Parts: sequence; structure tokens; C-alpha cells
Amino acid sequence: MPKVISINKPAADGEPRPDGREEDLKLDSTLRPADFSDFVGQSKIVGNLKIYITAAQKRQEPLDHILFSGGPGLGKTTLSYLVAKELGTSIRVIQGPSLERPADLAGILTGLENRNVLFIDEIHRIPITVAEYLYSAMEDFNLNIMIDQGPHARTVQLTIAPFTLIGATTREGLLSDPFRSRFGIFEKLELYPENDLLRIIKRSAKILNVQGDEAALKMIASRSRGTPRIANQILKRVRDVAQVKSNNLITTAIAEEGLKMLGIDEYGLVPTDRKILQTIIDNGGGPIGLKTISISIGEEEDTIEDVYEPYLIKCCMIEKTPRGRKTTTKAHEHLNKHPKEPRLF
Ligand code: ADP
Repeated sequence: MPKVISINKPAADGEPRPDGREEDLKLDSTLRPADFSDFVGQSKIVGNLKIYITAAQKRQEPLDHILFSGGPGLGKTTLSYLVAKELGTSIRVIQGPSLERPADLAGILTGLENRNVLFIDEIHRIPITVAEYLYSAMEDFNLNIMIDQGPHARTVQLTIAPFTLIGATTREGLLSDPFRSRFGIFEKLELYPENDLLRIIKRSAKILNVQGDEAALKMIASRSRGTPRIANQILKRVRDVAQVKSNNLITTAIAEEGLKMLGIDEYGLVPTDRKILQTIIDNGGGPIGLKTISISIGEEEDTIEDVYEPYLIKCCMIEKTPRGRKTTTKAHEHLNKHPKEPRLF
């Protein structure tokens, strides 16, 4: 792995979530592929990156700035580490929201060495005033910093070593056009098919030193919401059950027990998913707005949109319409709850 200079990811509580908890983030680093050959799936993206890296190295230039988009836990951070490793350089990791003032950015940028990678997670959450300073840094490797205020105000230009910015975002649409246009490479990560998740789970099981029946590991893959981080979280909990009850062997019964403990049902839905569906059903099956759902279940609108909704849409439990979210017949049958007919006055 490349030298990592710093990392700080926000923790979240509760059920398995692709945006991770403190403990699961430690797990991330144990199971994170250390080489492109261990990175499962997303083959088009990996193929593209390898070409761009080789070309940049042949030209002896820094690699173009990259924007990775896609849901949490799909591998954006992992790919960024792999890019830095392949470039043979260090990676500096920061969280977008931690860049509160232009001075925060100046300190980081001036500390970069030639062709280093700067990875900014949740890049859409950088305040606009800070993002504007990044523009010239990305384009010309310059930073124009305003010193003092009022009549003494003056601009100082700092030169920065040529670097590659890699931004990761779950909300590409929130980036301003001028910001987006400064990236040269855009790659969108999609949810993983079950066979890729199975390969990830098998690799992780080996690292975690636990064995599993093919059918049991397949069951975990099918309930992982298309997300490697979730697959690893489930595997870790199921491993606990196996350790206590079946001499470290994951059978289908053990996998089922672990999934049940996590509140994950046969479609891979977690309790929050079911609360979302229930809220819509209670409101006549929709359409209802995101705000109503957010207030009812006590989750932020962004989290519902980024973390829960994509999978609920993918497994055909809800539909997004111009007037709001609606539950489908599949959701009504799955929860065995049917919306009441809207009352006519
Ligand atoms: P993101 O930055 O998109 O939130 P991460 O890169 O942190 O996601 O991935 C979370 C974890 O999932 C990683 O630590 C790694 O263990 C696993 N993972 C993600 N993508 C892959 C992949 N393609 N192959 C194998 N493991 C993966």
C-alpha cells in the first residue's frame, strides 16, 4: 500500500450501513485490497485507470484529477489508494467537511510533494469558499491566498507541487460546474452483482480465517445490497456466530442466524429500509416527499437518498415519481401490509 498520511472518517451508529462505523472502518483497512489484482469487479473502471496511469507515467506527468462517484462502501477510497500505489506515490487522505476555511486547504496543499495524490472524500461537502481556492490549485498548481483585510488586504501566490486530486462523492450532482470541469477523469461505481460480492466474501473469509459453505456465503452475498462494505460487515458478524456455535464454520443455518441478529431480511433489507417502506405505506402508498419520510423515521434526507433509496429502487420496492416516492406491490407483499385506499372527501 502507498504511504497514507492521514485518515479520519465520520462514524455512524446502528445497523450495518455502507457508510461504516468506527469498528467497521478498522475492518475496512484489514480487508481493503492492497493491489488491483485483489480489487473485484468494476473491470471497465480498473481497465481505464490502468491505461491513464501508464500514459501519465510515460509522459512523466502527474495523472489528471479524478472524480469517483457512487454510493458509500462501493470502493472509491480503495481505488484511490490503488491509484496512488500504482503511481508509486504517497496519498494524503482528508474529509471534505473538515476543510472549513481556505487556510485548512493551504496547509495541506503546500505540504504536498511532486506527483502526490490528494484524496478528498465527500468532496461535495467542501464549502464553496474553500472549493474556489482549489480551482487554481487544480488547474495551475497555484494558490492565491488573501492576507489581511480592509486597506491592507493583499493576495499572495503560493506555488504547489504538481499533484493529482482524487475526489470521492456520493452526490456528483452537488458539485458546481466550474469544480467538475477541473477534473479530467470521471468514473462512476455501480452496485456489485452477486457473483462479485461472493468473490469479495471468499477473499475476506480467508483473511479473517473463517470457513464457509458455498451456499452460506452465497446467502450473505445476496443480502449485501450490492455493496462490498456491507458484505464484509455481515461476514464479520456471522463469523462471531460461527466461532461460538459451529467451530468457525459458516453454514447456512449460522449465516441465517447472524443475518437475523442484524435484522437483515431475505431481500437484504435492514430495519431502516422497512421503516421507510412502512412510512410510505402508512401514507397511502405514496407518492410522498423525502422530507415526510425523513421526519417520520428520524434520518437525514441525504442519508435516505444516498444510503437506502438506491437499493430500495434496485430491488423494486419503491418508485421515484415527480411527485414523490411510492411503494410497489412487491413492497406491500414483502411487508404483508397494504396501503389503505386514500379517503375521498
Ligand atoms: P467507499 O470509499 O466507496 O465508501 P471503500 O473503498 O472504503 O468504499 O470500500 C469499503 C470496503 O469494501 C473496503 O475496505 C474493502 O474491504 C471493500 N471493497 C470495496 N470495493 C471492493 C472491491 N472491488 N473488491 C474487494 N473489496 C472491496
